[in-house]
Amino acid sequence: QTPKTDPFTIAAPASEVSLATRVRVVCRVRPLTETEALRETRLIEAVDDKTVCLQEKETPNVFTYDSVFDEHATQEDIYASVGQKTLADLFKGFNGTILAYGQTGAGKSHTMMGPGDGNDLDRGIIPRVAENIFTHILQSSDEVEYTVGLSMMEVYKEHIFDLLDPQPKDFLIHEDKLNGIHVRGLSQAFVSSSSEMASVLKQGCKNRRTASTNMNTDSSRSHAILQIILTQKDVTSGEIRRSSLFLVDLAGSEKVDRSGATGITLEETKKINLSLSVLGLVINSLTDPKVNHVPYRDSKLTRILQESLGGNSRTTLIINISPASGSYYETLSTLRFGSRAKKIRNSVHINTELSVDQLKGRISLLEKRNKYLEEQL
Ligand code: ADP
Repeated sequence: QTPKTDPFTIAAPASEVSLATRVRVVCRVRPLTETEALRETRLIEAVDDKTVCLQEKETPNVFTYDSVFDEHATQEDIYASVGQKTLADLFKGFNGTILAYGQTGAGKSHTMMGPGDGNDLDRGIIPRVAENIFTHILQSSDEVEYTVGLSMMEVYKEHIFDLLDPQPKDFLIHEDKLNGIHVRGLSQAFVSSSSEMASVLKQGCKNRRTASTNMNTDSSRSHAILQIILTQKDVTSGEIRRSSLFLVDLAGSEKVDRSGATGITLEETKKINLSLSVLGLVINSLTDPKVNHVPYRDSKLTRILQESLGGNSRTTLIINISPASGSYYETLSTLRFGSRAKKIRNSVHINTELSVDQLKGRISLLEKRNKYLEEQL
């Protein structure tokens, strides 16, 4: 005998409902510099808001992305297209990632940070996110308690450097149920206003510059990773939403050539190139149905960003390009990188933890339902 209609509707918790999504790819073309304008020609044209054309001798090479911004796009336009949506998702409980990729000089730092340390009118995505997180919190209901934690690190030659606590230290990457994949021992600053957040960011940027001067390294060869962890506790139900946002300024995508850099050993050259090469391999593996293994663990960068690529994160990749003819090969390679990344599928869910009372409620409902079904049988 078939049981009558089940009167107990027990919806799965939000954390168990996955949504399929795709990595979003946004292309930003910077203006020609004054020197480039004198000596080089422009090879890139944004055809419309989704298409960009790279002029290759007589043949145009056309690429399409989720959005294309030409040199007239303002920092506000980029924030409105990329940052705002990612931040809204963060408050819903989704993890997010924004990655800036491209050759050195293509506009990654300009896009992510902007000139200076982010106080300028021309400030980039990071300072705007910092402001808007707190605008959002101030406008929201009193029923929710918020905690905003901030970590900043630099990955250089497969070594992790804590930008908020610049002591030489060896960090390892760990994975557990509560924190997911994380850098164990990395410091976290808790901030309660946008000005506090701005001053932590400023200190982190300053530490990055000092470290690069002291160690005589080129910061364009390192990856700067900012992680914001937002915790939202509903005071009535006790439910907790904990979501993470990675904002990443990647190292210049051009290969480091030993001949161009003085005093650099072959081992160092390999390490500098490793993370970006592995990033390329990860993207190839994720988008090639014939490949089963994704080599996340082969570099620090890809291991830290594992959830961002093929996992639980709404990810946007911004490919930054220069329009100048001298950058032709790097631009082509960046455009191809963006086209491959477009095919990455992620699977996201709202990161919630039920309170003890909510869990007890669920258990009692499940028990009642089991009893009912047994009676029906
Ligand atoms: P990257 O971080 O990729 O090495 P930068 O962001 O430092 O490159 O940009 C190189 C130069 O070009 C900087 O002087 C920057 O201010 C300028 N620039 C980059 N993108 C833009 C843009 N969209 N508009 C105006 N200037 C830009």
